Order: sequence, then structure tokens, then C-alpha cells
Amino acid sequence: MTKKIAIIGAGTAGLHLGLHLRSAGVEVTIFTDKRPEEYAGLRLLNTVAHHYVTVERETALGANHWPSETYGYIGHNYYIGGPKPLRFYGSLGRPSRAVDYRMYQPRLMEDFLARGGRIEYREIAHDDVPEISSRFDLLVVCTGKGPFGHMFKHQPAHSPFDRPQRALCVGLFKGIKETTPRAVTMYFSPAAGEMIEIPTLTFGGMAAALVIENHIGSDLEILAKVKYEDDPKAFIALLLAKLRQHYPTCAERIDEKEFDLANSPRDLLQGGVTPTVRGGHVVLDNGKLAIALGDVHAVVDPVLGQGANMASYAAVILGEEIVAQDVYDQRFVERFEERRTDRVICGTRWTNFMLQHLGTLSPDLLQYIGALSQHPALADEFTENFNYPERQWDCFASPERMRAWVAARVAQPESIRLSA
Ligand SMILES: Cc1cc2nc3c(=O)[nH]c(=O)nc-3n(C[C@H](O)[C@H](O)[C@H](O)COP(=O)(O)OP(=O)(O)OC[C@H]3O[C@@H](n4cnc5c(N)ncnc54)[C@H](O)[C@@H]3O)c2cc1C
Repeated sequence: MTKKIAIIGAGTAGLHLGLHLRSAGVEVTIFTDKRPEEYAGLRLLNTVAHHYVTVERETALGANHWPSETYGYIGHNYYIGGPKPLRFYGSLGRPSRAVDYRMYQPRLMEDFLARGGRIEYREIAHDDVPEISSRFDLLVVCTGKGPFGHMFKHQPAHSPFDRPQRALCVGLFKGIKETTPRAVTMYFSPAAGEMIEIPTLTFGGMAAALVIENHIGSDLEILAKVKYEDDPKAFIALLLAKLRQHYPTCAERIDEKEFDLANSPRDLLQGGVTPTVRGGHVVLDNGKLAIALGDVHAVVDPVLGQGANMASYAAVILGEEIVAQDVYDQRFVERFEERRTDRVICGTRWTNFMLQHLGTLSPDLLQYIGALSQHPALADEFTENFNYPERQWDCFASPERMRAWVAARVAQPESIRLSA
């Protein structure tokens, strides 16, 4: 039997699914609103770090064009500000890597086309869904966090927020010296914000992505509002001042003469993300099934870098189930959801937990961070588990679990004393 699958959206979810299905000889058409040649002229889409489990999935898909030995990083630095700042490092078992999605996505679209996939370039409206779905055995909707995904039901039990929890200012910058070894750096400025610095391959070579997560109402929030285009020099001066105050270990690596957006004024993105989970499928009026994949299903704030990694994981699992099963019905959905849910729901819960608790650094979180700072093996395990958000949630799901996680690894946990 020839299976015919329609995918709407050519992001990581749609492309990883499409490439997996093509490797199994399934007939696939992606419907998307942008041609590969349009991406270079777009505003920054995001700044996505692929944890190594995702890099390894790309290798298996034959779509890893950016070797980790050249472009990857091998750990996380952590900086927690306050009267007595804490600094520590956790290593990754294997390298992770970040590439500007304006380079990444068109390259994977080329891979998909070269392997016999079809792409139809047009913006799809909801009215188009009955006609498209009638021509295929299964429809997969991967249109990202925009309004198209609202065809899937909002899940309040997994969506605790009705608005963005951080005011984001995200950009690609030149003039920031890389750390040695090359690593992501996660900075926490209590009651003000978080910042994630990601070594990233851009159109002009390696640069630093700064994901500046500003608490609403803090002095940092202005970074999400002030416009670079209005006065580039004033914007950069303001940013430098905020970095010196809140994230000094980044500021001290900046060459002020060179510091600016890496390649163009389009290398900056400001706004916010409302973390949301939606139902994983709907049965359409014509009886066909539509599956929600990637951000359509679960969108998270970027503070822990989980969204695209979850999307890729779910895409390949969906691909495996499409290949393994012949009937796309309720039982198909059950089998797929059984495999997708733990990773994706734990990724959203862990991210939402951190959004709520990093603001005030609860005593349990302080105790946990103190343990990481004093025990390198724990910092390594925490860092490694960015690849496995369900393991993070095994630890963070309750204060008892956080304490038990530390107690199981540290001989005298009561010796760890920290205050905010
Ligand atoms: C600032 C920022 C930083 C981030 N950092 C990380 C990170 O470090 N790690 C991580 O894992 N995740 C990160 N994310 C999240 C990540 O970007 C998303 O989770 C991921 O890109 C979602 O992939 P997707 O395929 O579901 O959707 P998208 O990548 O948004 O793709 C949607 C696709 O659908 C197309 N489309 C949309 N509407 C239509 C329509 N009506 N008709 C036709 N086509 C349509 C679009 O053109 C696009 O091709 C970050 C997000 C942001 C905003």
C-alpha cells in the first residue's frame, strides 16, 4: 500500500518528519508559505540550540551538514548573580550545536526535495484543510506557534499561563569573545531576568546568540521594547550597560569597538511567547485525522532551549508510527501519544516550573543550585539532562524529589548552605 502524507509547515517538525518518511519511501507533500531563497532576507526567526540527541537524529536523517567538531559546543557555564555570585560548569557527554534557522531550514528543504519529497509553496487557510486532507491518508499540522494551530483544542491542564512570562530580546552579536571551552552560558539575575548565550553559526560565521529573558516589570524589560533601528548606537549602549549590571561575566568578554548585531539589523527579535499545550489531534468532518506536531502541539518559552528539540523528537516518533501502522485511526493516535507524551509534557512542565521559580529562587531551588555548584558530577548530570527533559522533571516535579535527587548523590546534603 502506498501511503500519502500531507504536512503543513516546513519548520523543524515538518522537515524532520518529512525526511524520516522519505527515508522509508513514503509519499510526502509539504505545504509551506516560504521558498528556500526567501529565508536569507527574513528577520531572525529564533536562536535554536540543538541538544546532541537532536544532532544525532539529524545525522540519522542524513541532514547533519554542520559537524559538531567545527561548530558544536561541549558544555554549559552557569552564572548566578547576587551579593556572592556563583559560577560553575557542567559538561555534555557529546557536543550540541546551534545554526541560524534562516540557514538551517532552507538547507533541509533542499534535502527533502533531493530525496523525492514534494513541496507546494502557498499559505494554507483553514478552508483549504478539507480539500488537502481528502487527497492524503493523514494530515500533519506543523505551522508553529501562530494562529493556524488553534484548530487544536487548548489544554488548560498543561497551560498554566495566559500571557508571556518573559519580555524577550534576542539577537545575534559580534564582538563577544567565546568562552574556552566553547560552551553555552546560562546567566541568572535574581528578580530581573535570565540570559542564555549560545555559540551559533550565522551567515557571517560563528557569533553569539543572546537570548535575554527579562522579567516583566524589572529594569531589564526595556530591552524588549527599545528599537535598534531608531538609534543603533543608543540601543547597543543600553544593552552594554544592562549586561555590565546583570551579566558581568558576559560584559567582560565584549570588545566594545566591535560589539553590534552580527550581520544586519534583522538579527534582532523582540516579543514574548505564551507557553501553551494543545490537543494532539482532531478528526476532521471528512473522517480524516489531523495530527498537531511541534509548536502547534506544545510551545514553550525558550529559557531552557527545549521547543525544537521536543519537536524533532516527536516528529521522528510520528514518522516511525506512520511507517509501522497501516490505519490512521484512534488506535494509531494512542500508540503515537504513548511514545510522545512523556518527553513533550515533561519538557513543558520543567520549562514552566523554571519560569515560575527562577524569578524568586525558592529555598529548594537554591539548595539544588548550591549542590550543583559544589559537586561537578551533579552539574554534569544536570547539563546532560537538557537532552532528556523527562529526567529533569523526575527531579523537579516536587520539593521532595529535588531533595531526594541531591541526597542520593551527595554524602552530606545538609552541608550545602546558600542564600539568595
Ligand atoms: C527566541 C527563541 C529561541 C529559541 N531557542 C530554542 C532553543 O535553543 N532550543 C530549542 O529546542 N527551541 C528553541 N526555540 C523554540 C523553537 O524555535 C521552536 O520550538 C521550533 O522552531 C518549532 O518548530 P516547528 O516546526 O513546530 O515550527 P516552526 O519552526 O515555527 O515552523 C512553522 C512552519 O510553518 C510554516 N507556516 C506557518 N503558517 C503557515 C500557513 N498558514 N501555511 C503554510 N505554511 C505555514 C512556516 O513558514 C514554517 O515553515 C526558540 C524559540 C524562540 C522564539
